[in-house]
Amino acid sequence: RSHKLPLFLYEEGMDQQHLQKLHILKSLKQALSLNDGQLQMYYQPKKNLSTGKVDKAEALIRWFHPQDGFIPPDVFIELAEQTGLIGQLTDWVILQVLEHVAVWRRDNIDLQVSINISAQDLSRDGLVTFIEQKLQRLQLRPADICLEITERDMMQDEEKSLQQLQIFRDRGFSISMDDYGIGYSALSKLARMPVDEIKIDKCFILNLAETHEDQIIVRSTLTMARELGLSVTAEGVENQASEEWLVASGCHYIQGYFLCRPMAFDKVSPWLTDFQQ
Ligand code: C2E
Ligand code: CA
Ligand code: CA
Ligand code: CA
Repeated sequence: RSHKLPLFLYEEGMDQQHLQKLHILKSLKQALSLNDGQLQMYYQPKKNLSTGKVDKAEALIRWFHPQDGFIPPDVFIELAEQTGLIGQLTDWVILQVLEHVAVWRRDNIDLQVSINISAQDLSRDGLVTFIEQKLQRLQLRPADICLEITERDMMQDEEKSLQQLQIFRDRGFSISMDDYGIGYSALSKLARMPVDEIKIDKCFILNLAETHEDQIIVRSTLTMARELGLSVTAEGVENQASEEWLVASGCHYIQGYFLCRPMAFDKVSPWLTDFQQ
């Protein structure tokens, strides 16, 4: 894996690093079983550039540890993946998100919410049934949910991932290929992937308006997506210049700090009301 742990985990040498990991894991297991509010789902809106409306959002997990403070998902998600805890974490995420979506539906807030899924989640046989049962209980539809899987994860266990994604898609779930552009997948493979959306990685978007190379990549991705009938979301839109460039180039959705930072569940409804005015 090319993901790097943040520097603070390396500071005191390898033993310290190992202990640190064990500590995080133990605390994460505890947080999951206590379910006492340490873990929370945050939501970041996505703006539809053809309507100007916010009709989608991405669910992002937050962990506020009572002693250690905020622990970024990049740190503990990878650990959870390495140790098999990710299944339990993903189940928790799904339950939280579906309950939140159900509340929004009751309040007439129509957001399609995307959930981040790891390669390991896809290889679990019960996942489709698990989600479908919860959806049914809450009177929600698969189309209310989008599953985001990174380009790299999709390519990791190709056959199985493809099969599972196809099943989800056949059942009506939306599928998004996350972090597109840094996973080095062949174009021939991409065309066969059962996906509805491509999310261009933020490294191509952050300085888009002043970086010619990024513009070439984004423009060609948009052209290819159009040919394949896929929707494109640009993530990491931090300024107006990026947004204007993306509007002019026919990008479908934008997500980023310029529109809004990820926010707690109860902040979403008031934010939407504000945004619409
Ligand atoms: P991701 O799926 O690529 O999520 C997008 C990340 O970009 C989020 O970081 C988001 O807060 C951040 N972001 C959004 N707008 C901007 C912007 O304008 N500029 C910059 N610089 N960053 C922006 P976050 O929340 O720290 O999550 C990091 C990663 O952790 C996610 O990357 C995803 O891979 C993973 N993750 C987060 N929540 C979950 C989850 O519930 N389940 C799983 N399996 N993974 C998750
Ligand atoms: Ca994502
Ligand atoms: Ca991403
Ligand atoms: Ca990422």
